[in-house]
Amino acid sequence: MNKNKKHFETEAIRTQSETTQFSEHSVPLYLTSGFVFDDAEEMRASFAEEKQRDLYSRYSNPNVNEFVDKVCLMEGAEAGFAFASGMAAVFSTFATLLDAGDHVVSCSSVFGATHGLFTKYFPKWNIECSYFNINEVEKIESLIKPNTKCIYAETPTNPGVDVLDLEALSAICKKHNLLLVIDNCFATPYLQNPIKFGADLVIHSATKLMDGQGRVLGGVTVGKEELIREIYLFSRLTGPSMSPFNAWVLSKSLETLAVRVDRHCENALKLATYLESHPKVKWVKYPFLKSHPQYEVAKKQMKLGGNIVAFEVKGGIEEGRKFIDAIKMCSLSANLGDTRTIVTHPASTTHAKVEPEVKAAAGISDGMVRVSVGLEHVNDVIEDLKQALG
Ligand SMILES: *Cc1c(COP(=O)(O)O)cnc(C)c1O
Repeated sequence: MNKNKKHFETEAIRTQSETTQFSEHSVPLYLTSGFVFDDAEEMRASFAEEKQRDLYSRYSNPNVNEFVDKVCLMEGAEAGFAFASGMAAVFSTFATLLDAGDHVVSCSSVFGATHGLFTKYFPKWNIECSYFNINEVEKIESLIKPNTKCIYAETPTNPGVDVLDLEALSAICKKHNLLLVIDNCFATPYLQNPIKFGADLVIHSATKLMDGQGRVLGGVTVGKEELIREIYLFSRLTGPSMSPFNAWVLSKSLETLAVRVDRHCENALKLATYLESHPKVKWVKYPFLKSHPQYEVAKKQMKLGGNIVAFEVKGGIEEGRKFIDAIKMCSLSANLGDTRTIVTHPASTTHAKVEPEVKAAAGISDGMVRVSVGLEHVNDVIEDLKQALG
């Protein structure tokens, strides 16, 4: 695309808004709702989009533009739009793409709120959703109907840490003329670029590893220019835009994404390897462990394995809960992708009300624990889990 494109880390640090007359080194925060015009003609031309400039922060803002530009460079995308949260990105993307009567084929293992959108609100607009099981990708084609518009998936999945073959999904989409929309939140643009494997749109919750420090919410959708144009037109009317302050925080966070994620992954692999040798652990799932069922696919499409490790404590739901209660240092929280290691027990919390067959399809068993491995010294994290297992 761009001959002058530099390495990921360099783009993350050197992509900045233009310097002002104050010659600041660090980009200022443009906390302004609107922008001024020289005269009536400039205002007319700007609103007519004959002139490219910021008009109003619901449409665009220098801090938000900088954040979006960085994510586009990182993902190899033509264009993007930033949102107040990951869910605002998911909803606005679907609301733009889909018409009443359309049909979506989605992986059964998607973020809880996304699942809620499909089951609670899509039917209201006569939009149907069919699910494919992570272990039955070969059945996807049988779910496609004349009104199917897109295939939607997350990889690695939450909380099961399964890996879906992006190239295979893309081939199905090409064959049936469907859009491929990927939620790339767990991998981050540093570890995986779905567009390279044929995705049309990539969605992120910037709240997770992009911020990486559990401070602000954010979301972003990037991809094909003509699709982003439609998403932009919908969003500038409906107002789910990212705030300049959050964009400023997140753009600075992206400067350190590579170093942070490298360490997250190193810690996660060490923890996963340790757990695999523990007698009270039934199984461990981590994309870069050789024992992972989709290890080869993970190696093909991911740079490293990510920061989420799933494992099963022997003894089912009771032992799973006991383990969580015995944790001393790690946080018990529903968030993920923080500097602090977070431990959750899906069967008794996020997925407590989910039917057994749906849970099984999403790869969740009763004693399963999900760890979002943080940036503490990995030996302290291992020590905490070790004493809790004991
Ligand atoms: C957290 C998350 C979301 C939603 O993002 P918010 O910023 O919390 O709205 C969407 N998809 C995945 C995979 C997530 O982990």
